[in-house]
Amino acid sequence: MPDDERAQLSRLIRRVRVEPGRKVTLPADFDPGDTGGIAGRAEAEPHLERGLELLARYQDRLAAQATHGVLLVLQALDAAGKDSTVKHVMRGTNPAFVRVHSFKVPSVEELMHTYLWRYSVRIPERGVIGIFNRSHYEEVLVVRVHPELLERQRLPAEMRDPDVWRHRFEEINAWERHLVRNGTRVVKVFLHISAEEQRRRFLERIDDPDKNWKFSAADVRERRCWNDYMHAYSEVLSHTSTRWAPWHVVPADHKWYSRLVVSALIVDTLMDIDPQYPRPSEEERRALAEARAELEAEQPS
Ligand code: ATP
Ligand code: MG
Repeated sequence: MPDDERAQLSRLIRRVRVEPGRKVTLPADFDPGDTGGIAGRAEAEPHLERGLELLARYQDRLAAQATHGVLLVLQALDAAGKDSTVKHVMRGTNPAFVRVHSFKVPSVEELMHTYLWRYSVRIPERGVIGIFNRSHYEEVLVVRVHPELLERQRLPAEMRDPDVWRHRFEEINAWERHLVRNGTRVVKVFLHISAEEQRRRFLERIDDPDKNWKFSAADVRERRCWNDYMHAYSEVLSHTSTRWAPWHVVPADHKWYSRLVVSALIVDTLMDIDPQYPRPSEEERRALAEARAELEAEQPS
């Protein structure tokens, strides 16, 4: 990749990265309408296309090398564009090596395990890009905003003290470090939408019959908790942006920009892994030569 392309990639990423240890206050600290100085969709389009081309090329090598996995954690409030980000950013990839998991309200079985269980069994295997559409972070977001959800988790009584969130941050950081040390890169994205843009998208989902299925009355109920979510997200970003798995606050009022940034994040991660097609050993080369001789001998005269 040419140096100027690499520099542009770094610029996009640096703008949205939460430096480990930084105290974040939302919504003040990040502008959901930011476009990184890019004038509009038309200017962004060729960069996105180039990004998707690179993504496809590196994904093939990631699958072939099969030593690393990549986990994209997508968190956001409703209508920020989680689903459409997956749809657009992954459209050039080989679906055989992509796994998308959407996490909903936990089942009875899931509640009978500790809270990280259902996420750990869905970590992408080596060679695969996994996407968590909502993730283990819901355990310190929706569960924090609605304390009755914590009640349902059947924790031992002594564990339900106010330290529970601090403990979960520590546990999540340690768990992610374990993943990264063992070959799973963790790319964390918070799609940051403004309250006004969410209101506009909800109205569109209500007014357009083809979009009604995307809307539920619960979405408006959750919206009433907007300030509680801003606080919970600020806490998450302040306590779980680490050297090994930093957060990225991606402005989401303009979808063309959030897609560009998310694709840049995945490409940058893949370039950093720099997976290579495996080269055969001496013995494997001999076996290849034998196979070739056998196939050539079968050539019709
Ligand atoms: P969309 O609305 O775009 O289809 P979504 O992710 O909002 O996607 P929904 O089925 O609307 O999907 O909602 C899933 C719900 O599950 C969310 O309200 C979310 O907060 C909730 N949820 C996810 N994880 C947990 C959890 N660990 N505990 C409790 N609720 C959770
Ligand atoms: Mg929803």
